[in-house]
Amino acid sequence: MQPHSIYIHIPFCRHRCSYCDFNTYVGIDNLIPSYIQAICLEISYIAQISDQKIPVRTIFFGGGTPSILPVDEICKVLDQVNRNYFLLDEAEISLEANPGSLSYEYLRSLREAGVNRISLGMQSANRHELILLDRRHAYYQIAESVGHVRRAGFKNLNLDLIYGIPHQTLRDWCSSLKLAISLEPDHLSLYSLTLEPGTSLNSWVSRGLLPEPDDDLSAEMYEIASELAEAKGFEQYEISNWARREKSGDLLACQHNLQYWRNHSYLGFGAGAHGYAGGKRTTNVLTPGEYIQRIRSWEKEASLNELSFPGSPAAESVTLINREEEIKETMMMGLRLTQEGISRESFQDRFGVPVDSVFEQQIQELIAAGLLEWDPKTRKTLRLTRKGRILGNQVFIRFI
Ligand code: SF4
Repeated sequence: MQPHSIYIHIPFCRHRCSYCDFNTYVGIDNLIPSYIQAICLEISYIAQISDQKIPVRTIFFGGGTPSILPVDEICKVLDQVNRNYFLLDEAEISLEANPGSLSYEYLRSLREAGVNRISLGMQSANRHELILLDRRHAYYQIAESVGHVRRAGFKNLNLDLIYGIPHQTLRDWCSSLKLAISLEPDHLSLYSLTLEPGTSLNSWVSRGLLPEPDDDLSAEMYEIASELAEAKGFEQYEISNWARREKSGDLLACQHNLQYWRNHSYLGFGAGAHGYAGGKRTTNVLTPGEYIQRIRSWEKEASLNELSFPGSPAAESVTLINREEEIKETMMMGLRLTQEGISRESFQDRFGVPVDSVFEQQIQELIAAGLLEWDPKTRKTLRLTRKGRILGNQVFIRFI
Protein backbone atom coordinates (compact mmCIF):
# COMPACT_ATOMS: atom_id res chain seq x y z
CA MET A 1 0.00 0.00 0.00
CA GLN A 2 1.30 3.49 -0.89
CA PRO A 3 2.09 5.71 2.13
CA HIS A 4 -0.73 8.04 3.13
CA SER A 5 -0.72 11.46 4.77
CA ILE A 6 -2.83 12.47 7.76
CA TYR A 7 -4.42 15.87 8.25
CA ILE A 8 -5.73 16.80 11.72
CA HIS A 9 -8.01 19.83 11.84
CA ILE A 10 -7.86 21.96 15.01
CA PRO A 11 -10.76 24.44 14.75
CA PHE A 12 -9.96 26.73 17.70
CA CYS A 13 -8.70 30.31 17.59
CA ARG A 14 -8.26 33.11 20.12
CA HIS A 15 -9.99 35.60 17.81
CA ARG A 16 -11.12 35.82 14.17
CA CYS A 17 -8.63 37.54 11.81
CA SER A 18 -10.24 40.01 9.41
CA TYR A 19 -9.50 38.04 6.20
CA CYS A 20 -10.18 34.53 7.47
CA ASP A 21 -13.04 32.27 6.41
CA PHE A 22 -11.50 29.02 7.63
CA ASN A 23 -13.51 26.50 9.58
CA THR A 24 -12.51 27.79 12.99
CA TYR A 25 -14.26 29.06 16.14
CA VAL A 26 -13.57 31.46 18.98
CA GLY A 27 -14.55 30.94 22.63
CA ILE A 28 -15.12 27.18 22.59
CA ASP A 29 -11.80 26.06 24.08
CA ASN A 30 -13.79 24.16 26.71
CA LEU A 31 -14.49 21.59 23.94
CA ILE A 32 -10.80 20.84 23.39
CA PRO A 33 -10.56 17.69 25.58
CA SER A 34 -13.69 16.07 24.12
CA TYR A 35 -12.69 17.14 20.59
CA ILE A 36 -9.28 15.46 20.92
CA GLN A 37 -10.94 12.38 22.38
CA ALA A 38 -13.23 12.25 19.31
CA ILE A 39 -10.26 12.67 16.93
CA CYS A 40 -8.48 9.77 18.64
CA LEU A 41 -11.57 7.59 18.19
CA GLU A 42 -11.92 8.59 14.54
CA ILE A 43 -8.24 7.74 13.95
CA SER A 44 -8.74 4.25 15.38
CA TYR A 45 -12.04 3.60 13.55
CA ILE A 46 -10.50 4.33 10.16
CA ALA A 47 -7.51 2.12 10.94
CA GLN A 48 -9.83 -0.72 11.98
CA ILE A 49 -11.89 -0.60 8.80
CA SER A 50 -8.83 -0.59 6.53
CA ASP A 51 -7.87 -4.04 5.29
CA GLN A 52 -4.17 -3.29 5.88
CA LYS A 53 -2.09 -1.34 8.38
CA ILE A 54 -1.70 2.02 6.62
CA PRO A 55 1.82 3.43 6.19
CA VAL A 56 1.93 7.16 7.00
CA ARG A 57 4.55 9.56 5.63
CA THR A 58 3.27 12.90 6.97
CA ILE A 59 1.02 14.28 9.70
CA PHE A 60 -0.16 17.88 9.55
CA PHE A 61 -1.88 19.72 12.42
CA GLY A 62 -3.70 22.58 10.67
CA GLY A 63 -6.39 24.99 11.67
CA GLY A 64 -7.48 27.09 13.24
CA THR A 65 -4.59 27.48 15.64
CA PRO A 66 -3.14 24.08 16.56
CA SER A 67 -0.62 25.79 18.87
CA ILE A 68 -3.56 26.54 21.21
CA LEU A 69 -3.54 22.85 22.16
CA PRO A 70 -1.66 21.76 25.27
CA VAL A 71 1.22 19.47 24.27
CA ASP A 72 -0.46 16.58 26.14
CA GLU A 73 -3.38 16.70 23.72
CA ILE A 74 -1.05 16.66 20.72
CA CYS A 75 0.76 13.66 22.26
CA LYS A 76 -2.55 11.80 22.57
CA VAL A 77 -3.17 12.21 18.83
CA LEU A 78 0.37 11.21 17.88
CA ASP A 79 0.23 8.15 20.17
CA GLN A 80 -3.04 7.13 18.59
CA VAL A 81 -1.57 7.39 15.08
CA ASN A 82 1.48 5.42 16.20
CA ARG A 83 -0.63 2.69 17.72
CA ASN A 84 -2.96 2.27 14.76
CA TYR A 85 -0.85 3.08 11.68
CA PHE A 86 2.66 2.41 10.46
CA LEU A 87 4.35 5.79 10.90
CA LEU A 88 7.44 5.85 8.66
CA ASP A 89 10.79 6.64 10.33
CA GLU A 90 11.36 9.80 8.33
CA ALA A 91 7.77 11.04 8.64
CA GLU A 92 7.28 14.80 8.48
CA ILE A 93 5.11 16.01 11.40
CA SER A 94 4.06 19.65 10.96
CA LEU A 95 2.16 22.00 13.19
CA GLU A 96 0.79 25.44 12.36
CA ALA A 97 1.45 28.06 15.02
CA ASN A 98 0.82 31.73 15.62
CA PRO A 99 3.76 33.89 16.61
CA GLY A 100 3.44 35.91 19.77
CA SER A 101 2.07 33.21 22.03
CA LEU A 102 4.79 30.58 21.58
CA SER A 103 7.15 29.87 24.43
CA TYR A 104 10.46 28.04 24.19
CA GLU A 105 9.24 25.46 26.72
CA TYR A 106 6.12 24.72 24.65
CA LEU A 107 8.16 24.29 21.47
CA ARG A 108 10.73 22.13 23.21
CA SER A 109 7.97 19.77 24.43
CA LEU A 110 6.48 19.67 20.94
CA ARG A 111 9.84 18.72 19.50
CA GLU A 112 10.22 15.99 22.13
CA ALA A 113 6.75 14.72 21.23
CA GLY A 114 7.96 14.18 17.66
CA VAL A 115 6.76 17.29 15.82
CA ASN A 116 9.59 18.21 13.43
CA ARG A 117 8.27 21.09 11.31
CA ILE A 118 6.71 24.39 12.37
CA SER A 119 4.71 26.65 10.09
CA LEU A 120 4.41 30.17 11.49
CA GLY A 121 1.62 32.49 10.35
CA MET A 122 3.76 35.62 10.01
CA GLN A 123 1.65 37.29 7.25
CA SER A 124 3.51 40.63 7.32
CA ALA A 125 6.29 42.49 9.09
CA ASN A 126 4.48 45.80 8.76
CA ARG A 127 2.60 46.97 11.87
CA HIS A 128 -0.25 48.67 9.96
CA GLU A 129 -0.84 45.62 7.78
CA LEU A 130 -0.87 43.29 10.79
CA ILE A 131 -3.45 45.55 12.44
CA LEU A 132 -5.58 45.60 9.29
CA LEU A 133 -5.44 41.80 9.07
CA ASP A 134 -6.28 41.68 12.79
CA ARG A 135 -3.19 39.66 13.59
CA ARG A 136 -2.25 39.96 17.24
CA HIS A 137 1.52 39.98 16.91
CA ALA A 138 4.32 42.36 15.94
CA TYR A 139 7.48 41.70 13.95
CA TYR A 140 9.67 41.49 17.06
CA GLN A 141 7.45 38.65 18.33
CA ILE A 142 7.85 36.79 15.05
CA ALA A 143 11.63 37.11 15.37
CA GLU A 144 11.41 35.96 18.99
CA SER A 145 9.26 32.94 18.03
CA VAL A 146 11.71 31.99 15.26
CA GLY A 147 14.52 32.10 17.85
CA HIS A 148 12.52 29.78 20.15
CA VAL A 149 11.73 27.42 17.26
CA ARG A 150 15.41 27.05 16.40
CA ARG A 151 16.57 26.75 20.01
CA ALA A 152 13.96 24.05 20.59
CA GLY A 153 15.68 22.01 17.86
CA PHE A 154 13.42 22.41 14.80
CA LYS A 155 15.38 22.08 11.56
CA ASN A 156 12.40 22.83 9.35
CA LEU A 157 10.55 26.14 9.61
CA ASN A 158 8.04 27.72 7.26
CA LEU A 159 6.85 31.32 7.28
CA ASP A 160 3.48 32.21 5.71
CA LEU A 161 3.14 35.70 4.22
CA ILE A 162 0.30 37.51 2.49
CA TYR A 163 0.62 40.10 -0.29
CA GLY A 164 -1.94 42.29 -2.05
CA ILE A 165 -3.13 43.75 1.29
CA PRO A 166 -5.17 46.98 0.87
CA HIS A 167 -2.85 50.04 0.77
CA GLN A 168 0.22 47.79 0.58
CA THR A 169 2.86 49.18 -1.80
CA LEU A 170 5.55 47.23 -3.63
CA ARG A 171 8.04 48.71 -1.23
CA ASP A 172 6.03 47.55 1.83
CA TRP A 173 5.82 44.05 0.41
CA CYS A 174 9.54 43.86 -0.39
CA SER A 175 10.38 45.06 3.09
CA SER A 176 8.16 42.39 4.72
CA LEU A 177 9.61 39.68 2.53
CA LYS A 178 13.20 40.79 3.17
CA LEU A 179 12.57 40.81 6.92
CA ALA A 180 11.06 37.33 6.66
CA ILE A 181 14.07 36.06 4.72
CA SER A 182 16.43 37.67 7.24
CA LEU A 183 14.97 35.26 9.84
CA GLU A 184 16.42 32.39 7.76
CA PRO A 185 13.36 30.15 7.36
CA ASP A 186 13.71 26.94 5.34
CA HIS A 187 10.46 27.44 3.51
CA LEU A 188 8.23 30.32 2.41
CA SER A 189 4.53 30.18 1.54
CA LEU A 190 3.48 33.44 -0.14
CA TYR A 191 -0.25 33.90 -0.74
CA SER A 192 -2.13 36.60 -2.57
CA LEU A 193 -4.91 38.03 -0.39
CA THR A 194 -8.36 36.94 -1.49
CA LEU A 195 -11.50 38.61 -0.23
CA GLU A 196 -13.73 35.89 1.15
CA PRO A 197 -17.46 36.50 1.60
CA GLY A 198 -18.45 36.90 5.23
CA THR A 199 -15.09 38.26 6.39
CA SER A 200 -14.64 41.70 7.97
CA LEU A 201 -12.12 42.66 5.30
CA ASN A 202 -14.59 41.87 2.55
CA SER A 203 -17.25 44.00 4.19
CA TRP A 204 -14.83 46.94 4.64
CA VAL A 205 -13.96 46.77 0.93
CA SER A 206 -17.59 46.46 -0.20
CA ARG A 207 -18.54 49.45 1.96
CA GLY A 208 -15.79 51.50 0.28
CA LEU A 209 -13.72 51.81 3.44
CA LEU A 210 -10.78 50.06 1.79
CA PRO A 211 -9.68 49.89 -1.87
CA GLU A 212 -10.53 46.90 -4.08
CA PRO A 213 -7.61 44.48 -4.59
CA ASP A 214 -5.43 45.45 -7.56
CA ASP A 215 -4.70 42.30 -9.59
CA ASP A 216 -1.93 43.92 -11.64
CA LEU A 217 -0.14 45.08 -8.50
CA SER A 218 -0.53 41.63 -6.96
CA ALA A 219 0.98 40.05 -10.09
CA GLU A 220 3.92 42.46 -9.83
CA MET A 221 4.34 41.57 -6.15
CA TYR A 222 4.37 37.91 -7.07
CA GLU A 223 7.10 38.37 -9.67
CA ILE A 224 9.23 40.47 -7.33
CA ALA A 225 8.79 37.90 -4.58
CA SER A 226 9.93 35.16 -6.95
CA GLU A 227 13.07 37.09 -7.85
CA LEU A 228 13.85 38.07 -4.27
CA ALA A 229 13.36 34.58 -2.88
CA GLU A 230 15.41 32.99 -5.65
CA ALA A 231 18.21 35.55 -5.20
CA LYS A 232 18.36 34.48 -1.55
CA GLY A 233 18.72 30.79 -2.35
CA PHE A 234 15.09 29.63 -2.25
CA GLU A 235 13.81 27.45 -5.07
CA GLN A 236 10.24 27.72 -6.20
CA TYR A 237 8.63 24.30 -6.37
CA GLU A 238 4.92 25.21 -6.33
CA ILE A 239 2.93 28.25 -7.42
CA SER A 240 2.95 29.76 -3.90
CA ASN A 241 5.82 27.88 -2.26
CA TRP A 242 9.60 28.18 -2.10
CA ALA A 243 12.14 26.09 -0.20
CA ARG A 244 15.85 25.95 0.58
CA ARG A 245 18.00 23.01 -0.37
CA GLU A 246 19.74 21.13 2.44
CA LYS A 247 23.48 20.45 2.29
CA SER A 248 22.58 16.89 1.29
CA GLY A 249 20.93 18.33 -1.82
CA ASP A 250 17.35 17.63 -0.68
CA LEU A 251 14.80 20.40 -1.15
CA LEU A 252 12.97 21.20 2.12
CA ALA A 253 9.60 21.17 0.35
CA CYS A 254 6.49 20.55 2.46
CA GLN A 255 6.09 16.78 2.11
CA HIS A 256 2.52 16.92 3.36
CA ASN A 257 1.36 19.36 0.70
CA LEU A 258 3.30 17.44 -1.97
CA GLN A 259 0.99 14.53 -1.20
CA TYR A 260 -2.02 16.71 -2.17
CA TRP A 261 -0.37 18.14 -5.27
CA ARG A 262 0.63 14.67 -6.47
CA ASN A 263 -2.98 13.64 -5.92
CA HIS A 264 -1.92 10.86 -3.57
CA SER A 265 -3.88 9.53 -0.60
CA TYR A 266 -4.53 11.33 2.66
CA LEU A 267 -6.89 10.90 5.59
CA GLY A 268 -8.56 13.93 7.16
CA PHE A 269 -9.57 13.81 10.83
CA GLY A 270 -11.62 16.38 12.72
CA ALA A 271 -14.41 18.85 12.01
CA GLY A 272 -14.73 19.77 8.33
CA ALA A 273 -11.62 17.74 7.42
CA HIS A 274 -11.32 16.41 3.86
CA GLY A 275 -9.74 13.13 2.84
CA TYR A 276 -8.90 11.23 -0.35
CA ALA A 277 -8.20 7.54 -0.01
CA GLY A 278 -9.29 4.26 -1.57
CA GLY A 279 -10.49 6.24 -4.61
CA LYS A 280 -13.00 8.21 -2.51
CA ARG A 281 -13.14 11.81 -1.35
CA THR A 282 -14.56 12.39 2.12
CA THR A 283 -15.76 15.51 3.93
CA ASN A 284 -16.55 15.57 7.63
CA VAL A 285 -19.34 17.56 9.28
CA LEU A 286 -18.30 21.16 9.80
CA THR A 287 -18.83 22.15 13.41
CA PRO A 288 -16.82 20.75 16.33
CA GLY A 289 -20.00 20.21 18.38
CA GLU A 290 -21.66 18.09 15.71
CA TYR A 291 -18.40 16.28 15.00
CA ILE A 292 -17.99 15.25 18.64
CA GLN A 293 -21.64 14.24 18.86
CA ARG A 294 -21.48 12.06 15.71
CA ILE A 295 -18.40 10.21 16.88
CA ARG A 296 -19.79 9.75 20.40
CA SER A 297 -23.27 8.60 19.47
CA TRP A 298 -21.91 6.23 16.89
CA GLU A 299 -19.60 4.73 19.50
CA LYS A 300 -22.61 3.76 21.55
CA GLU A 301 -24.89 2.54 18.83
CA ALA A 302 -23.11 1.02 15.89
CA SER A 303 -20.55 -1.59 15.00
CA LEU A 304 -17.53 -1.18 12.76
CA ASN A 305 -19.15 -3.39 10.09
CA GLU A 306 -21.37 -0.49 9.16
CA LEU A 307 -18.44 1.64 8.09
CA SER A 308 -16.60 1.30 4.82
CA PHE A 309 -13.09 2.71 4.32
CA PRO A 310 -12.38 5.66 4.37
CA GLY A 311 -15.77 7.03 5.50
CA SER A 312 -15.93 7.73 9.22
CA PRO A 313 -19.07 8.24 11.34
CA ALA A 314 -18.36 11.98 11.05
CA ALA A 315 -18.33 11.94 7.22
CA GLU A 316 -21.02 14.11 5.70
CA SER A 317 -20.12 12.98 2.19
CA VAL A 318 -18.16 10.15 0.64
CA THR A 319 -17.74 10.48 -3.13
CA LEU A 320 -16.34 7.85 -5.43
CA ILE A 321 -13.80 9.39 -7.82
CA ASN A 322 -13.83 7.70 -11.21
CA ARG A 323 -10.80 7.38 -13.45
CA GLU A 324 -11.73 10.37 -15.61
CA GLU A 325 -12.05 12.62 -12.55
CA GLU A 326 -8.82 11.30 -11.10
CA ILE A 327 -7.02 12.17 -14.34
CA LYS A 328 -8.38 15.72 -14.35
CA GLU A 329 -7.57 16.27 -10.68
CA THR A 330 -4.07 14.88 -11.18
CA MET A 331 -3.49 17.40 -13.99
CA MET A 332 -4.88 20.32 -12.03
CA MET A 333 -2.93 19.59 -8.89
CA GLY A 334 0.27 18.39 -10.56
CA LEU A 335 0.64 21.46 -12.75
CA ARG A 336 0.85 23.55 -9.58
CA LEU A 337 4.27 21.97 -9.06
CA THR A 338 6.46 24.38 -10.98
CA GLN A 339 9.51 22.09 -11.31
CA GLU A 340 8.05 18.61 -11.06
CA GLY A 341 4.93 19.33 -13.16
CA ILE A 342 3.35 16.32 -14.85
CA SER A 343 5.82 13.65 -15.85
CA ARG A 344 5.06 11.71 -19.04
CA GLU A 345 6.32 8.54 -17.43
CA SER A 346 4.41 8.81 -14.12
CA PHE A 347 1.19 9.71 -15.93
CA GLN A 348 1.57 6.71 -18.26
CA ASP A 349 2.35 4.40 -15.31
CA ARG A 350 -0.63 5.64 -13.31
CA PHE A 351 -3.27 5.79 -16.04
CA GLY A 352 -1.92 3.55 -18.81
CA VAL A 353 -2.18 6.23 -21.51
CA PRO A 354 0.15 9.04 -22.64
CA VAL A 355 -0.78 12.45 -21.21
CA ASP A 356 -0.43 14.13 -24.61
CA SER A 357 -2.96 11.81 -26.16
CA VAL A 358 -5.59 12.46 -23.45
CA PHE A 359 -5.16 16.24 -23.53
CA GLU A 360 -3.63 16.78 -26.98
CA GLN A 361 -5.62 19.87 -27.89
CA GLN A 362 -5.42 21.59 -24.48
CA ILE A 363 -1.67 21.05 -24.24
CA GLN A 364 -1.01 22.37 -27.76
CA GLU A 365 -3.15 25.47 -27.21
CA LEU A 366 -1.66 26.25 -23.81
CA ILE A 367 1.88 25.83 -25.16
CA ALA A 368 1.00 28.17 -28.05
CA ALA A 369 -0.36 30.71 -25.53
CA GLY A 370 2.96 30.60 -23.65
CA LEU A 371 1.38 29.19 -20.48
CA LEU A 372 2.73 25.60 -20.58
CA GLU A 373 5.99 24.04 -21.77
CA TRP A 374 7.69 20.69 -21.98
CA ASP A 375 10.89 20.83 -19.92
CA PRO A 376 13.33 22.10 -22.62
CA LYS A 377 16.15 19.76 -21.44
CA THR A 378 14.35 16.45 -21.13
CA ARG A 379 11.01 17.01 -22.93
CA LYS A 380 9.63 14.59 -20.32
CA THR A 381 7.85 16.99 -17.98
CA LEU A 382 4.92 19.25 -18.69
CA ARG A 383 4.89 22.38 -16.53
CA LEU A 384 3.80 25.99 -16.24
CA THR A 385 5.92 28.74 -17.80
CA ARG A 386 6.67 31.86 -15.71
CA LYS A 387 3.68 33.53 -17.36
CA GLY A 388 1.59 30.41 -16.65
CA ARG A 389 2.40 30.64 -12.92
CA ILE A 390 0.65 34.02 -12.76
CA LEU A 391 -2.25 32.86 -14.93
CA GLY A 392 -2.50 29.38 -13.40
CA ASN A 393 -6.29 29.43 -13.17
CA GLN A 394 -6.56 29.88 -16.95
CA VAL A 395 -4.51 26.72 -17.34
CA PHE A 396 -6.26 24.55 -14.72
CA ILE A 397 -9.72 25.33 -16.03
CA ARG A 398 -8.78 23.75 -19.38
CA PHE A 399 -8.35 20.36 -17.71
CA ILE A 400 -11.65 20.16 -15.87
S1 SF4 B 1 -5.40 32.53 13.41
FE1 SF4 B 1 -5.51 31.64 11.35
S2 SF4 B 1 -7.29 30.27 11.39
FE2 SF4 B 1 -7.44 31.61 13.21
S3 SF4 B 1 -8.75 33.28 12.56
FE3 SF4 B 1 -6.63 33.94 12.20
S4 SF4 B 1 -6.17 33.34 10.06
FE4 SF4 B 1 -8.05 32.25 10.71
